[in-house]
Amino acid sequence: MKTIDNYNFDGKKVIVRVDFNVPLNDHFEITDDTRIRAAIPTIQKIREKGGAVILMSHLGRPKNGPEDKFSLRHLINHLSEKLDTPVQFADDCIGTQAKEKAAALKPGEVLLLENLRFYKEETKGDEAFAKKLSELADAYVNDAFGTAHRAHASTAIIAKFFPNDKMFGYVMANEIKSINKVLKEGKSPLTAILGGAKVSGKIEIINHLLDKVDNLIIGGGMMFTFIKALGGKIGSSLVEEDLIETAREAIVKADELGVTIYLPSDTVIADKFDNDANTQTVKVSEIPDGWMGLDIGPETEKTFSEVIENSATMLWNGPMGVFEMENFAKGTKAVAMALVKATEKGAYTLVGGGDSVAAINKYNLQDKVSYVSTGGGAMLEYIEGKELPGIAAIES
Ligand code: AMP
Repeated sequence: MKTIDNYNFDGKKVIVRVDFNVPLNDHFEITDDTRIRAAIPTIQKIREKGGAVILMSHLGRPKNGPEDKFSLRHLINHLSEKLDTPVQFADDCIGTQAKEKAAALKPGEVLLLENLRFYKEETKGDEAFAKKLSELADAYVNDAFGTAHRAHASTAIIAKFFPNDKMFGYVMANEIKSINKVLKEGKSPLTAILGGAKVSGKIEIINHLLDKVDNLIIGGGMMFTFIKALGGKIGSSLVEEDLIETAREAIVKADELGVTIYLPSDTVIADKFDNDANTQTVKVSEIPDGWMGLDIGPETEKTFSEVIENSATMLWNGPMGVFEMENFAKGTKAVAMALVKATEKGAYTLVGGGDSVAAINKYNLQDKVSYVSTGGGAMLEYIEGKELPGIAAIES
């Protein structure tokens, strides 16, 4: 893999695509700096190796050019504190000022460019715009995994202007390595645990994973489409009628491939979608009319935990129930705990995709699993087996 570890940065100007798309409050204060912290090791490494760093990112979704609330200017102080060095700023990512400031950079110095998405050319993947960005530097580093599934000017197109001087930063490299540890080098028994609201968002993942895993655990709202496909009574639980046939096909395909699908045997049901609803635990295929399943039941927790604790490699995406509500969070927490136990026993455990990441953070277990992906949509597309433009542009 082409990473910053095997490149000589001495005296080079290095343009780094980072993901500084952080949440800001009304006073333009950063409310969660996870993404900034994630990029620090890459930036520091390049500086240590004698490079000058030019940082580019998007922030938010500006519609019509520059807008103060989306300015990366708001990040200067925080970034400078984290890097323990002054951060210069160019209030346009291209143009004379950016050029002059980039040209004047000395080894170890850092320049932050204004929001790339102030130009619609960025998301359009405009080649002329990418070329202008490329002219600021001698080398290109992509460290923005969160946008790796987009063929934008700064995430993919720009790479062609650095045929021999393009590489991954540590965030990208770690994400790719961790997913490959599961999908390409995963030791058996390999188990995927899928949950979340909808089958529709996960069906391509299921199809891709069936060729790779030994076990597929299905929980969350999506389980009811499968239970209905098997003839169960699901009351008013979440269901996607148009995907019942697709779910049935997945069950048949799993059977043909020798993959064991684990569906819940019991579920915690509620008489309304509310933490204070009346609840009871019933068999998953015998949900009375007017009730909906909002979590897996205790018997299922036990079965799922056993499968997880006996697996060598795992990928978890999506909560087992409506974990945002305390009364329906038990199943998700049980799965998180089982993953922690498996990790302690030596299993490789990857947690990826929005809500399972939120869950693992909520229980403060993020350091007790092997890897927590920050990738969101990019991670999902990668496990669907799609080629990500941001990765392909570096590898080609
Ligand atoms: P996703 O974005 O597809 O991973 O879905 C995550 C969402 O699924 C979370 O907000 C959960 O509250 C929701 N969810 C999980 N289980 C259920 C369920 N049984 N019924 C309705 N929503 C659920």
